[in-house]
Amino acid sequence: MSKQRLHRNVVIIGSGPAGLTAAIYSARANLKPLLVDAPADAEKHTVPGGQLMITTDVENYPGFAEGIQGPDLMVEFRKQAERFGTEFLETWIDKVELQERPFTLHTSDHEIKAETLIIASGASAKWLGIPGEAKVPAGLGGHGVSACATCDGPLPAFRNKPLVVVGGGDTAMEEATFLTRYASRVFVVHRRNKLRASKIMQDKAFRNQKLEFIWDTAVEEILGTPADGVTGVRLSNLKTGQQQIFPCSGVFIAIGHKPNTELFKGQIETDDVGYIKTSGHSTATNIPGVFASGDVQDSVYRQAVTAAGTGCMAALDAERFLDHLPVMMPSGEEITMEGEHITPDHEVIITPDGHMIPNKIGSATPRD
Ligand code: NDP
Repeated sequence: MSKQRLHRNVVIIGSGPAGLTAAIYSARANLKPLLVDAPADAEKHTVPGGQLMITTDVENYPGFAEGIQGPDLMVEFRKQAERFGTEFLETWIDKVELQERPFTLHTSDHEIKAETLIIASGASAKWLGIPGEAKVPAGLGGHGVSACATCDGPLPAFRNKPLVVVGGGDTAMEEATFLTRYASRVFVVHRRNKLRASKIMQDKAFRNQKLEFIWDTAVEEILGTPADGVTGVRLSNLKTGQQQIFPCSGVFIAIGHKPNTELFKGQIETDDVGYIKTSGHSTATNIPGVFASGDVQDSVYRQAVTAAGTGCMAALDAERFLDHLPVMMPSGEEITMEGEHITPDHEVIITPDGHMIPNKIGSATPRD
């Protein structure tokens, strides 16, 4: 069976706050965006709507004074994107080709050509893979097990209760420090006796009177019931092999995130961890016409509202690019849709065939 061919001005990958905000903006700009998102898959931990679909109360998204449930917020985002004519396609993308424009996306049933591409495929929290960790009903995920202290820490179930944080990096220090605002005590369980976190974050954590460290230890199981929530963890000392049941009311897994960039590997510039590099002043990647927004390019803020903000930026950047206006690249140069490079000091334009033209009004003589 031959594949259905589609050709769109703006194609967005991902349906979290970044992807849907990009859709709202580009749909309102009459660019008729196509948003492609992964189907729900429990094993692959994918769900249309992204990470907010696995959170409960969202109390810090502006505009909802009383808070809103994560999944309800994403329904609103989606309805708003639909209202302005976003086209949705729920399918796995098998391969992308970003070497030339229009870019090509392959699915089992489609070949999609994209004049501009907005990557908003997000990041996924890493999990330990231990009993009790999976989402209810398979485990206690959402009932005392979380991978986001900012999202879930302030919930009543964790107030004045002992909590466990797993990990020894900056994320674990940040989450543990944040949780001390609410918990009676926070115990960081780390598999070694040395932290990976930066010195400043370690110092802050060590100074915190409500924070304690349990070294050389692995969490082997999370205990409790969906009705009672988490009641404890089974710990194993990795040096002595000694096991103990440690009572606590919540477990925050903070062993890092991984950006969902497998699909683009080798084709787009990323940092060592795999986050897509974007220009400081825009969402432009190293490929003109490809923009990245949300957690796939942000290892620092990782909030729904910041993701939505960069989704808006990506839509405006794509619109600008399609209007034949230059976009700023991570290198500091600006590049037009026609492939002209404007030097970071804005002094010279280099045409695709290598001619150098002064970028000053009144001096149009080539100077190659
Ligand atoms: P890291 O990879 O730096 O740390 C992960 C931690 O989790 C390590 O201590 C690691 O242990 C532990 N770990 C990993 N896998 C397992 C496992 N299976 N079982 C038990 N423990 C495990 O990830 P982070 O998310 O902490 O940081 C990622 C990047 O983001 C870093 O560059 C960090 O600096 C940055 N960041 C910056 C922040 C800030 O500046 N405010 C906040 C958060 C992150 P081990 O040490 O033994 O390998």
